[in-house]
Amino acid sequence: MKKYSTTSRYTLIGSAIGLFFPLLAAIVEIKILGLAINPLNLWVAQKEQPLLWIIDLAPLFLGFLSWMVGKKQDTLSALNDNLENQVVQRTKELIQKNQDLHQEITERVHVEENLIRARLTAENAAKARSEFLSNMSHEIRTPLNAIIGLTGLLSETILEAEQADFVNIVRMSGESLLCIINDILDYSKIESGKMELEEHPFALIDPIEDAFDLLSTKANEKNLELIYEVQDSVPAYISGDITRIRQILVNLVSNAVKFTDSGEIFVHVKSLGKKGDLHILRFAVKDSGIGIPADRVDKLFKSFSQVDASTTRKYGGTGLGLAICNKLVSLMGGEIGVESVEGSGSTFYFTLQVPIAKDVGKGLYFPSQTINEVLIVDDNEANLKILTSRLKKWGLKVSQTNLPLKALSMFSDPHFQPSVVIVDLNMPLMDGVTLAKEIRQIRGDSVNLIMLSSSGNPENQDDRQWFNSWQIKPVRNEQLFNAVFRTVTLPSKEKTNNASPSRPERAVGSLPIRILLAEDNTINQKVALRLLDKIGLRADVASNGAEAVLAASTISYDLILMDMQMPEKDGLEATREIRKNQGETTLQPIIIAMTANVMNEDRVRCMEAGMNDFLSKPVKLSEMEAMIDKWFLDSGKENVAQTISSIAPSTGQISE
Ligand code: ADP
Repeated sequence: MKKYSTTSRYTLIGSAIGLFFPLLAAIVEIKILGLAINPLNLWVAQKEQPLLWIIDLAPLFLGFLSWMVGKKQDTLSALNDNLENQVVQRTKELIQKNQDLHQEITERVHVEENLIRARLTAENAAKARSEFLSNMSHEIRTPLNAIIGLTGLLSETILEAEQADFVNIVRMSGESLLCIINDILDYSKIESGKMELEEHPFALIDPIEDAFDLLSTKANEKNLELIYEVQDSVPAYISGDITRIRQILVNLVSNAVKFTDSGEIFVHVKSLGKKGDLHILRFAVKDSGIGIPADRVDKLFKSFSQVDASTTRKYGGTGLGLAICNKLVSLMGGEIGVESVEGSGSTFYFTLQVPIAKDVGKGLYFPSQTINEVLIVDDNEANLKILTSRLKKWGLKVSQTNLPLKALSMFSDPHFQPSVVIVDLNMPLMDGVTLAKEIRQIRGDSVNLIMLSSSGNPENQDDRQWFNSWQIKPVRNEQLFNAVFRTVTLPSKEKTNNASPSRPERAVGSLPIRILLAEDNTINQKVALRLLDKIGLRADVASNGAEAVLAASTISYDLILMDMQMPEKDGLEATREIRKNQGETTLQPIIIAMTANVMNEDRVRCMEAGMNDFLSKPVKLSEMEAMIDKWFLDSGKENVAQTISSIAPSTGQISE
């Protein structure tokens, strides 16, 4: 119920008092202090005494005053009420906010807990995936080692044409399977952030020439020229991960060879300037192949992406190569891209930011003898241009022609006296061998002839006799340098030897190396023994780590090829024991892991256990040979000496 306000109450009282007496006297006669007041005398008195009006009106005045006071009080109490309401309201709000805050904190704690749980799950999943991949890779590599190793050995036995063909297909299939496993492993390593980049100084042309070496057979089979050019402003030595840069180049050049039927593959390196101390380099691999439709370009660098499904059927591949290149390039702070015109070819390029490095001791040493002039005869314009520029960089005077007949006519001028003539094999109108014969007719032995052939060794061995050196394209810078300068400076007998492009005779087979093979899988024992046999070496066999330790304690082996996973005692444990047993003596063997565990951690674990080097399965003959060369041939003797002096029994860690 609505209360009367203070104002109305006071006004009511004031007015009641003010109006009570006059009204009463106006109606009836009343007596106040003995005086009778009635309406008549009231009127007379009022008329005669104006002061009485003041007395009469005083109550009204009082009423008015009360009304004023009441009003003030009303305002005050309204203000008070308002203030009180506000305080109540604010308090309510504050309580609500407090509750909200509490709720939010609880939710956040919950979310945080969930996040931690999710991270742990993801970490466990990544670890499990990486372990799974590593195990899977190990399991696949073990039988692959047998397939690739034994088919390689089988192909070197006498086989009927059809059998040889089958063996070759099995070997090649094994090798493509190996490539796929390597791609998947690499990809997963990058994805899980496990790819670690190394940084070493190296000659910039090395990874390019390595990639060319690897792919020259395929390129030569398709009659494709592999050519590279490095702009002068590019530093000759840089620091970085040569293995990964080589991997990117191998991938791009291999794709270029795969998707090109005629013409050339051209690798070009230029400098895009400097960013602080870093040089920004741009590598480009240009081909004249099938090209890529514009709408497919974006997808190329994504995983498992091929231009169309029929590509897999026709050319093979996993569609992982470019995705891996993309990731590797970004890891190295660069970018990858492609410019392509369907039907005319593609240029894949990538940039790298690298520090310049000091000369890594691979500089070319110029002999004191001077060379008059070099003539280059090659029908491929790009080759001609690049060879000329390379030779000019070595301070040589160079003349060139793309026409063999023009070269011949140059010799009719007696003032034209080149010391060296470099000729291509396959040229229109006249091939390189015929040209060489003609030149010999005119100039005899006074000129040195170098063959640069892209189709391998001569079909007819007699063809070689016309040349001082027979080189197979693409020729490495150092190899060409040696060919040019050595043909001039060596006595003629050595020149003839030098004319052979085949690899130098191996000496390892004649080395008295005592070898122990520690391997539990009997098929892989056979493969390794046969590979060693091919190199002319024999080995004792231990079929687990414990046997290996026992054998090493009775016979002082020079080399132990050690599998990692073996029953009873694994390769790591066995290595540690052998290192400990031998102590700091010169009897420490070289221990090389030969394992299907190929992750970087495995390599590190092997090194930490005291092994010297690492061969990943499947082991190819060439890899086994190279490894033994490294540790036991002349060039490797320093390694062995260093190893023996640096083996610390505690860790046994040896630098590679
Ligand atoms: P793959 O192992 O299948 O070759 P890549 O990731 O290396 O995988 O290449 C993906 C696809 O990109 C290829 O299947 C091919 O369709 C296309 N491609 C790559 N390089 C070239 C090239 N030089 N010319 C034409 N197409 C190319």
